[in-house]
Amino acid sequence: MVRWVKHKAGTGERKCTRCTSWIKHWENHTNENRGQCSVYGCTNPAREGAHVITSRTSSKREYIVPTCGSCNPRSSTEAFRLVKGTPVAPARKCN
Ligand SMILES: [Zn+2]
Ligand SMILES: [Zn+2]
Repeated sequence: MVRWVKHKAGTGERKCTRCTSWIKHWENHTNENRGQCSVYGCTNPAREGAHVITSRTSSKREYIVPTCGSCNPRSSTEAFRLVKGTPVAPARKCN
């Protein structure tokens, strides 16, 4: 279960070409439809797949989570909490 994450900087130009967007990539991997932003406390609809890295854990893993536009800033390294039970997709391009 992933709870605390940080945005991974410098990933804006990376993209999953097979899924066409990271939010689609997240949907394809989790079999979920985008709903609300996965940032704890935010109630905006999710529109983007945010590239995050786990925080407060010994192993750093990268994932894609659905967020609204304002929760996916281009440069932020602040840790934030995900809504409990948010499914995550691997931050790897499909091929
Ligand atoms: Zn993909
Ligand atoms: Zn949000």
